Amino acid sequence: MKLLNMKMMVFLMAVTLTAVGFTQETGLPNVKILATGGTIAGSASSATSSSYAAGQVGIQTMINAVPGIKELANVSGEQISNVGSQDISIVIWIKLANRINELLATDDVDGIVVTHGTDTQEETAYFLSLVVKSDKPVVTTGSMRSSTSISAEGPLNLYNSVAIAASKEAQGKGVMVSLNDQIHSARDVSKMNTTNVGSFVSPIKGIMGGVFYGRLGFFREPTTRFGKSSEFSVEGKTSLPRVDIIYAYADMSPDLIDMHVKAGAKGIVIAGVGNGNMTDETLKAAKEAYEKHGVIVVRSTRAATGWVLRDNEFKDDDFYTIASHDLNPAKARILLMLSLADGKKLPEMQELFYTY
Ligand code: ASP
Repeated sequence: MKLLNMKMMVFLMAVTLTAVGFTQETGLPNVKILATGGTIAGSASSATSSSYAAGQVGIQTMINAVPGIKELANVSGEQISNVGSQDISIVIWIKLANRINELLATDDVDGIVVTHGTDTQEETAYFLSLVVKSDKPVVTTGSMRSSTSISAEGPLNLYNSVAIAASKEAQGKGVMVSLNDQIHSARDVSKMNTTNVGSFVSPIKGIMGGVFYGRLGFFREPTTRFGKSSEFSVEGKTSLPRVDIIYAYADMSPDLIDMHVKAGAKGIVIAGVGNGNMTDETLKAAKEAYEKHGVIVVRSTRAATGWVLRDNEFKDDDFYTIASHDLNPAKARILLMLSLADGKKLPEMQELFYTY
């Protein structure tokens, strides 16, 4: 009986250890935090001031500010950039993606956390979800309040994100975004509020899971192609073709399309009114942009949520336009840039927007 209990205990310990991805030396998984800046690394002159500077605090200071983080994983940090995410660039995206792929290809790293400003976090996360080739967890996080603010939420967001990156449960889920106790799929999430700590929402599909002081659970899977099964890669690339976004409104002037084409855009995303609409004249300008310059125009929406349907109020084929499906303008731009970089042509473009 005693022997049986011993055997049982060893078995249970083995199951528990595998379940959280333990490594040999310390018994903890190895999580790398790649810091890019943002409000989570921001500081202000007073704890109650609404003005602050983003991207001030280094990664080691941020790690030191999180109690208990070293009990979740062997955590080490690396500074990729230290900017407000309004200044995140394609160059930083490529550097970040290459570094993540390099780290995850080794046995020394079990998961990655990226700290990032909230303004463009959904863009970076979606970009990474298409070009990171690993099943190991990658989580982006940030905060709405600076590190010196009263009730700063950055340390708990970082703690929770390390717990996700360290867990076996989060493997194969693509790039995740975690703030405010929630786990979002990179593709589905948007920043919906300028200041609120609950500003990240996945308006169409909902959150993928929850995380509470490091305890986490998932209740759905990502629904589109990502990661190892994505055909996109930035290996060997140093830039991407220029794609601009034009915001539509009543009485929109068609010459905006020509201006962007002349400025060098290879693709244009329209943040259209309603279901990806624009003035008749602008639609004609979109047709001309393709016929004369091969510039592909994608119809997304300025509405906060909802699908943009193909052939809704006119036939897309008549104007050579692509419907963004449920990608918002900023994410539609990323997919269009990656597609153009790989030489994708108009006939296959719509399918890519349904697939990714
Ligand atoms: N402007 C900041 C940034 O995106 C806002 C934030 O992080 O919350 O870096």
